[in-house]
Amino acid sequence: MSEHNQLLADLGLDVQLHDKLLASQAKSYRDIILSQPDRPGAMAYFDRAAHGAHGGRVREIVDAREQGAKMIGTFCVYVPEEIILAAGAIPVALCGGTTFSVPYAEKAFPRDICPLVKSTLGLALADICPYGPIKDMAVGETTCDAKKKVWDVISQSVNFHVLELPQKKTERGGDLWLHEVHEFKERVEELTGARIEPGVLAQKVRLMNRKRRLLRDLNELRMAPRPPISGKDALLVMQLALIDEPERFCNELEALVAELRQRVEDGVSPFAPGTRRVLVAGCPSVLGNWKIHHIIETSGAAVVCDESCTGTRYFENLVDEGAQAVDEQLEAIAERYLRIDCSCFTPNTERIEHVVELAGECRADAVVQYILQYCHTYNIEAIRIARALRSAGIPSLEIETDYSEEDAGQLRTRVEALLESLQGVSP
Ligand code: SF4
Ligand code: SF4
Repeated sequence: MSEHNQLLADLGLDVQLHDKLLASQAKSYRDIILSQPDRPGAMAYFDRAAHGAHGGRVREIVDAREQGAKMIGTFCVYVPEEIILAAGAIPVALCGGTTFSVPYAEKAFPRDICPLVKSTLGLALADICPYGPIKDMAVGETTCDAKKKVWDVISQSVNFHVLELPQKKTERGGDLWLHEVHEFKERVEELTGARIEPGVLAQKVRLMNRKRRLLRDLNELRMAPRPPISGKDALLVMQLALIDEPERFCNELEALVAELRQRVEDGVSPFAPGTRRVLVAGCPSVLGNWKIHHIIETSGAAVVCDESCTGTRYFENLVDEGAQAVDEQLEAIAERYLRIDCSCFTPNTERIEHVVELAGECRADAVVQYILQYCHTYNIEAIRIARALRSAGIPSLEIETDYSEEDAGQLRTRVEALLESLQGVSP
């Protein structure tokens, strides 16, 4: 048995089944990511990091825990990572992006919940998520019915904290959220035994802001007339932002951004001139899930922006770095996170306007609304977004799908029809 498999066995994982999961993921990675032409050289780091998500990163966290650090699993971009980092703990997103684990969840939970939740649950239930046994606490939120009721079940056996998200962005909603952020800080302090000091919190706020600025730079470079990077590679970087060690991630991203700037100057792009530009808006595509981007980019278009939690929702808006005392810092953190425009809010007019604005900014020829099956909030919000896009003269398509490949042919036909409908419209 390899050293790594021995580690997984020691953690109580089903090593044989985990090997099968890795083999299926390695094949998708080769076919979908590595097969792309003209990839930036700096993507080599992100390829290694993707490979290390079930290898080196796990070892790194196991070692850090031996030195006393705690790992906190997250499921949503509303979880303030600065607070976790300021307590010396390690945040890792636990969302599953593989169809492989879905059947294991369907044995124990209703089938009609979204694939992201089922994939995550299945990884845990089948003992193939290496982060499951090493997390010291998991943090959920009340963003959707699927998640909040799943938390009820899993919190019976896992050290769990639930952040209550308000449903409306009113003053009262803001007060509730600030209270939740304070309570979260206390819970993290209790778990880690550390007292969060303003100096360290300020440092982590700056670190997270650096990550956001770099991701924003990457996003702006994608908007160039000839995008220097494919949508699939940009998505991969975003997916790893939720898992990787943040300092190292920022350094590597800085190198990628520098290379992309040069590629824009030199006119180097994986896409031919005049390639149609698509904005993907909606549900997140977490690590392992490149389905919709792959279909779009192998149908002759380029994904030039992601309006999602593996896109703009993760990096837009910075935390004010001017606050001095911990209470003020928490207020600044709460304020930034509450600006995220997830479809769980009602009304959510800013998201509708934002999608139209983004489509204009990235000069999208069309918008594909990506909706995970059974995700009611994004599915219903798609109606208003489609209307707003129509009024702005931007063609769009709504795709509701799961993680499986069963509907891939049908989805490809619909994407191709959308792109064909653009013929005669100058790019
Ligand atoms: S879509 Fe909403 S619930 Fe899902 S990760 Fe994003 S903010 Fe959280
Ligand atoms: S994709 Fe939708 S249904 Fe699934 S976890 Fe996110 S908000 Fe909930």
